[in-house]
Amino acid sequence: MTQLPRLTFVIPCYNEQEVLPETTRRLQALLDELTKTGKIATESRVTYVDDGSRDSTWGLIEQAHRQDGRFHGIKLSRNRGHQNALMAGLMTEPGDAILSIDADLQDDLTVIPAMLDHLTGGAQIVFGVRDKRESDTPFKRVTAQLYYRILGMLGVEVIPDHADFRLMGRAALDALKQYNEVNLYLRGVIPQLGFKTAKVFYARQARFAGETKYTFKKMLGLAVDGVTSFSAMPLHFITFAGLTVSLIAFGLGLWTIIQKLFFGGAVPGWASTIVSIYLLGGLQLMALGIIGNYLAKIYAETKRRPRFIIEKCL
Ligand code: UDP
Ligand code: MG
Repeated sequence: MTQLPRLTFVIPCYNEQEVLPETTRRLQALLDELTKTGKIATESRVTYVDDGSRDSTWGLIEQAHRQDGRFHGIKLSRNRGHQNALMAGLMTEPGDAILSIDADLQDDLTVIPAMLDHLTGGAQIVFGVRDKRESDTPFKRVTAQLYYRILGMLGVEVIPDHADFRLMGRAALDALKQYNEVNLYLRGVIPQLGFKTAKVFYARQARFAGETKYTFKKMLGLAVDGVTSFSAMPLHFITFAGLTVSLIAFGLGLWTIIQKLFFGGAVPGWASTIVSIYLLGGLQLMALGIIGNYLAKIYAETKRRPRFIIEKCL
């Protein structure tokens, strides 16, 4: 790349009034510095995606836009969740490269020059990867670790400890546009795109204001999405479990008949009847639940509903 890249920061915001003014200040300083040191073109910009906030987030975005022409906004018509808000930015923003980062700037701004160097060096995707998880609660740390392990076992390709702090070049962004699925799990799709990739390690900071917008429910939803969007393993697993249980039941039945015929008696006890009813009932319900989960996904996909609706742009 001989010309300097026009970089866009895409920042999803949901009820971020506490952090936005400081975020804008820090990004202004960063833009100034990156332009001055010749890392990015002067047309580079920041685009906040307001994910249907109920507080004064949009007002603050408008204010940032008035004060500094490099700041822009996309307002979604309602809350659609982090991944969709991110997609809204990735799909619509121009420029040679897009850097996605959270509004709370928990991800380290100081590694951005290194990320840009990888881009100039030919990488199309640069993943920001956390090398420590000190700023997380023990609960989040343990669940995250467990989750990556499960994903790995199910054959889903993700980059452990990489969230959505990432730099993507134009070619990778255009490739991403070809993925039309409604249930989009970016952390699974992006490693599948191919291209030359790179990783940059950093320590994640604590939120400097406000509190997490990822409720436990949202986190769980994302986790389930990651599995069901990329792996049919749970379906194979229930088939296998069903088969095993049937075989055992068949063996037991055979055994009872033999008992009855040749040894005269030994009516199977109450416990074995009840236990097997509950066991099978439970297994069947679980199997139905898993199948239902995939079915719901197919249902959502066939409707082809939009991932996000843009109300207005700045
Ligand atoms: N976010 C969003 N929509 C939502 C929830 C979160 O756009 O429904 C944004 C939020 O404003 C932030 C980013 O997603 O910029 C990450 O959220 P947060 O920092 O609360 O998550 P955590 O860092 O605690 O995982
Ligand atoms: Mg955060």
